[in-house]
Amino acid sequence: MRSFPALLLLCLLTAACRTAGPAPVLGPAGQAACSETRSIDEAFQCARRDPNSLRELVLAMPKGGDLHHHLTGAIYPEVLIQLASYQGLCIDLSPDGSGSPKFAFQSCSTPPAGRPDAGNIPLAALTADCQACPASQSAACTGSVFVPACCLCSNGTLYDGAVNALSMRGVPWGTLQAHDHFFAIFGKLGPATGNKAALMAQLRQQASRENVLYLETMSSVPYLANDPSLKAFQDLFAAGNDSAGAAFCRQLEAGPTEPDETGRKVLAAGEAVAKRVAEVMAAEIADSSRLLGCDGKPDAPGCEVTVGRQIETHRTSSLVNICQEALLGFASSQADRQHIVGINIVAAEDAYVARVDYSAHMNLLGNLGRIYPLAGRALHAGELIEGLVPPNDLRFHIGDAVRVAGANRIGHGVAITYETRSGDLLKEMAAKPVAVELNLVSNAQLLGVEGAEHPLPLYVERGVPVVLATDDPGIMRTSLTEQFRLAALDYPRFRYADLRTFNRNSLEYSFLTGASIWEDPGAYRHPVADCRAATGGLDLDRCAKWAESQGDKARVQTLLERRLRAFEERYP
Ligand SMILES: [Zn+2]
Repeated sequence: MRSFPALLLLCLLTAACRTAGPAPVLGPAGQAACSETRSIDEAFQCARRDPNSLRELVLAMPKGGDLHHHLTGAIYPEVLIQLASYQGLCIDLSPDGSGSPKFAFQSCSTPPAGRPDAGNIPLAALTADCQACPASQSAACTGSVFVPACCLCSNGTLYDGAVNALSMRGVPWGTLQAHDHFFAIFGKLGPATGNKAALMAQLRQQASRENVLYLETMSSVPYLANDPSLKAFQDLFAAGNDSAGAAFCRQLEAGPTEPDETGRKVLAAGEAVAKRVAEVMAAEIADSSRLLGCDGKPDAPGCEVTVGRQIETHRTSSLVNICQEALLGFASSQADRQHIVGINIVAAEDAYVARVDYSAHMNLLGNLGRIYPLAGRALHAGELIEGLVPPNDLRFHIGDAVRVAGANRIGHGVAITYETRSGDLLKEMAAKPVAVELNLVSNAQLLGVEGAEHPLPLYVERGVPVVLATDDPGIMRTSLTEQFRLAALDYPRFRYADLRTFNRNSLEYSFLTGASIWEDPGAYRHPVADCRAATGGLDLDRCAKWAESQGDKARVQTLLERRLRAFEERYP
């Protein structure tokens, strides 16, 4: 529960409530009525007295990027049910360990009759109401625990059960139950999340509704069926522990190392696969634009949203598996840095394997980072609290991610004050700088950390660049707007200018390619010479022209500044 100022009581006690005309929200004595605000900061200070007015304002506020979200966790299960129906998938309703239906998407053993072309999903399918099965399939909806996904659309109880099973709806926040329920969901999504272009199109539309300009979205390495380069790469690992691949991985995971001849052979084989991986992932972004209709209508919602992709490595898999994933991730980013902007390490940080292999993972990422320095490194670290893991695991995860793995950004960083000499680490993060991606709703849901318990103000105070992000907005049923609203509601010390800094940070510390429009990242007072007006401020037209010859970063930053200026000018 959150508590808010007793607005109603204030209203009853003041004369202004009884006057005609628009009803202003009134603050404590001495503060202007909201109808009299003269600047965006005043409007923000006023709106934050009322959580609903605040939502209106932060929804309209132009936003930079959502730098931390998992593509498959970003989609509402309602959309996945719809996608699964269109793709002719089935859902497994057999009981799990607790006796509840699993609600796990799977390919049907016999594809249902009348299955539409899975590669040709209309964009409308992503937002339309659930489409019941055609008559040819509806007979398959009864008498089995393995039914076509479209059966959910004609059975409200099953549909609601699926939404609950595949999201955090109704799950008590901050409990072990929430943690376990959440991490189990990813194993149930399966082929329903196979069409990455459709998922990205949906995300871009949602971003457009929230005034977000950039999505840096995480997903796994795509599987390349029947690809000879993949087979050649896998052959290097075929002999298990005795293979050349495993030997090289052990070197990478033991400490700083230079690749020997065997290592160079493994890297070369990985790079051949990575070239294909990068092509596939870049093509998926292009396909999402095609789904949105951007060719014919570049102004269609979502087309203005740029997408960069991060490749996930999984910290709960075996040391050889994570080594292969990481190698392909780094090499793919090096091959096409514009589209594959970087790598990440994901999955439950408190899991046994994640804990015992943590140092090996950091060595691996540090070594590959030296071999492929172009790839951005955003690493989940410190998504922990006391009691979830033994005390020693709270002391070094963020520090090693920064110092050993060379992270450019840290995801979560909630456990920062448990770290050994956390003050020094914060100083180091501020100086390098290493930005921190804070996911307020996620931390409340999975860790029970929110409000005064959350280290957001501490990071800001110590000068570490902060960005706000969503983590898994589909499963968690949240939005980037909500992260900003919570930052404003829970931390009265933040003014509008702080939220604008979080926004600017989300492009400055993104892995978008090319130069920044800012000479002083973090402060954002001085544009680079090519963007500077005679008065020293930002000359947007000049900057936009210069940005044309730069990478994506300057282009998206200029667009954000143009939108921010228009937004702020509404409050003269
Ligand atoms: Zn995450």
